[in-house]
Amino acid sequence: MIGRWFLFAASLLAGGAVGWLAGSLSGLLAGGMTAAFAWLAIDSIYMTRLLRWLRSEQASEATQLVASAVPGLPGMWGEVVGRTRRLLKSREQGLIDSQARLDEFLAAIQASPSGVVLLDAQGRIEWCNQTATEHFGFDAQRDLLQHIANLVREPVFKAYMAAGDFAHDVLVPGRSSTPSRPVKLSVHVHSYGKDRKLLLSRDITAIELAEAMRRDFVANVSHEIRTPLTVLSGFIETLQTLPLNDEERSRYLTLMAQQSLRMQTLVNDLLTLSRLEGSPSPGIADWNTTDALFAQCEQEARALSAVLAPQGHRLEFDAGEPSELAGVQTEIHSAMSNLVTNAVRYTPEKGLIRVTWSVLANGQGVFTVQDSGPGIASEHLPRLTERFYRIDRSRSRETGGTGLGLAIVKHVAQRHGAELRIKSQPGQGSSFSLLFPAARVRRSSLLVAAGQRAT
Ligand code: ADP
Repeated sequence: MIGRWFLFAASLLAGGAVGWLAGSLSGLLAGGMTAAFAWLAIDSIYMTRLLRWLRSEQASEATQLVASAVPGLPGMWGEVVGRTRRLLKSREQGLIDSQARLDEFLAAIQASPSGVVLLDAQGRIEWCNQTATEHFGFDAQRDLLQHIANLVREPVFKAYMAAGDFAHDVLVPGRSSTPSRPVKLSVHVHSYGKDRKLLLSRDITAIELAEAMRRDFVANVSHEIRTPLTVLSGFIETLQTLPLNDEERSRYLTLMAQQSLRMQTLVNDLLTLSRLEGSPSPGIADWNTTDALFAQCEQEARALSAVLAPQGHRLEFDAGEPSELAGVQTEIHSAMSNLVTNAVRYTPEKGLIRVTWSVLANGQGVFTVQDSGPGIASEHLPRLTERFYRIDRSRSRETGGTGLGLAIVKHVAQRHGAELRIKSQPGQGSSFSLLFPAARVRRSSLLVAAGQRAT
């Protein structure tokens, strides 16, 4: 600035000197004033150019102003332009950074598994993420600035919003909820800023289902254990209070042993199930011969048939081609044995039970148990593998069933990559098959041949 004053004074002096030379004192004044006017005129030109640049039609957009042609001005005016430009540039960069951060933030909210809705002070939708549109059936564009209570019309939600007490959440049915496939949402509103609200929705259908299953499971286990316990404590009381002869005492003890065995079987099945659920899938390092598995099943089936059916069953076992199955021997045996003993337990005496093993052309192995028993109505088939699901409750109990057999079979099958297939019709008998993947099946004959070739 001092330099500029210096230059201005030098111009006046120069103008004055030229005027002095041309016409003494009046010339000096005229020369000085001409120099001052010239300064003013040049400054006005520069200022006009600067103002034109600032007022240019792009001036409303800082980004465009920075990009537009900058007037090349000298000295202080040039510095004003340069500094303005730098200022605008840094502001523009700040805006770009803020926009990028906002975009990232919105992308993160979009990726949230929870529905997020921003409401203004009047309860109108300002913004919502994709999950919220799916939960409530909103249209992110069309429903903008619509009142939320006009779109979520559940009375319980309207009452929640009207009460304004957002300390807890509220449960509302989801948009896609149907009587056969109910969808439950947990909705929680949080206040923020000036009367604004953040609405979060969470799909809790699976949690609710798991909770209902847990409640059912605890109720079922309690019921299953309470029945034999009640019987046992009744017998104990009788033994303690009544004078009984040896024969009566022995009869009561036998009945007590039956009840305790029933509880033991139930606890064993429960432990088996929890072990199956908690352990990783078995590898294919351990191979078990199907012949040995078959022999065990046959022995058990014949022993059980002798106990349950005085006239016996027609039991047919066809172990097919000698093969090997990869997996945990005890688990595979438990699954096969459950299917075979079920057939014996539910098929009336003299009925036919056929157990077969075969290796298919594609290498899969099929274990099938077919019976000529009462058969099962189609509505029961999808639920048979649920824990404690029974069709014939009394037959199940009479024959020592726990209601967990097919649940165990399903878990073993899943862990071994196998599929449980059930075909049945009332009055036509039933067929239960375990279809093992080719990777877990190998023919013993091929192994022998390979061994011979190697030697
Ligand atoms: P349970 O211990 O009661 O036999 P399962 O889980 O093994 O429990 O079987 C579930 C239900 O499926 C049984 O209660 C029975 O009603 C039905 N079921 C199983 N196998 C057969 C079969 N071979 N024939 C007819 N019903 C069967």
